[in-house]
Amino acid sequence: MDRINSSTIQAHGLKATPQRLLILKHIKKAGHISIEQLFEAVRREFPSISLATVYKNIDALLSTGLIREVGIVGGKHVFELAKGDHMHFICKECGSIIDIPQKGEILPESLMEKLPGEIKKVELNIYGICNSCKNKV
Ligand SMILES: [Zn+2]
Ligand SMILES: [Zn+2]
Repeated sequence: MDRINSSTIQAHGLKATPQRLLILKHIKKAGHISIEQLFEAVRREFPSISLATVYKNIDALLSTGLIREVGIVGGKHVFELAKGDHMHFICKECGSIIDIPQKGEILPESLMEKLPGEIKKVELNIYGICNSCKNKV
């Protein structure tokens, strides 16, 4: 998603409110952003907006598939614009979340055969120390 404008939102069946546009703009700018960070950013331009409104808009945007939620173990959920399949590398030091392109199936065939059910979705987060933190020591 290169450009975000009213028609991006309308194409997903939602009304393009200034709040939604602003929320998408900040998610795009941050790459990955928590609801609290998003609220702070949006509030600078919309001082009257409430956290509940941000939540409501996030729910609406999630339901259209425009954005997606990434769960982080031991951290806050973050939101990102929906894009192609990718994995996340999460730095335990600085908390940065780096997108890693993903091609094809993540799970080896040998494991897929042993699963006790049908896969609907696979999400992979890799936790580690990013190169810039590693080089700081
Ligand atoms: Zn780091
Ligand atoms: Zn991502």
